[in-house]
Amino acid sequence: MKKSLEKFNELVEAFASLPGVGKKSATRYAYHVSLTDSFGGLKLAQCIEDAVRFIKRCDKCGNISEDEICDICADDTRDCDLLAIVESPKDILVLESSKIFNGRYFVLDELNDDLLDKLSLFIDENDVKEVIFAFTPGLNSDALMMFVEDKLNKQNIRFSKIAQGVPTGVSLENIDMLSLLKALEARTKT
Ligand SMILES: [Zn+2]
Repeated sequence: MKKSLEKFNELVEAFASLPGVGKKSATRYAYHVSLTDSFGGLKLAQCIEDAVRFIKRCDKCGNISEDEICDICADDTRDCDLLAIVESPKDILVLESSKIFNGRYFVLDELNDDLLDKLSLFIDENDVKEVIFAFTPGLNSDALMMFVEDKLNKQNIRFSKIAQGVPTGVSLENIDMLSLLKALEARTKT
């Protein structure tokens, strides 16, 4: 015998697998898209499919992009002297929405030699003068900064990190804009 509400339950499970969505919300969403607003539900399904198919990472910096090279890397009005290293493409969205940074970015979401080589190449190609670590402050990020700085071993490059205003352990997306602005302005040498 066919299990009852199999598809509905599968949908609930799918929503519940998203970050920050509990079973209760997942059930509400599933009910909403399958019954309350089925047209919206189909639209959502289409959006998800398109996003999964077309959104990728920028070849140069790792930012979210729909092309090989992201808008920021392709924008020659950006200040090439400054490079902010972030932990996730989400952090780029945060910094971009604040409009306080006009340099370029590099996403360092894992530590491997390939990615570090790519970062080194990015710095050389763009003639970067200052590397700003825009990491979530904490012991791990201090160790990571030291490691990256050592690996890059670049001369004539200033290394700095965003500082005051960003509380330890709070990720960039949860920081208010004013604090972020202060943190960038008050960046300190690593
Ligand atoms: Zn890019």
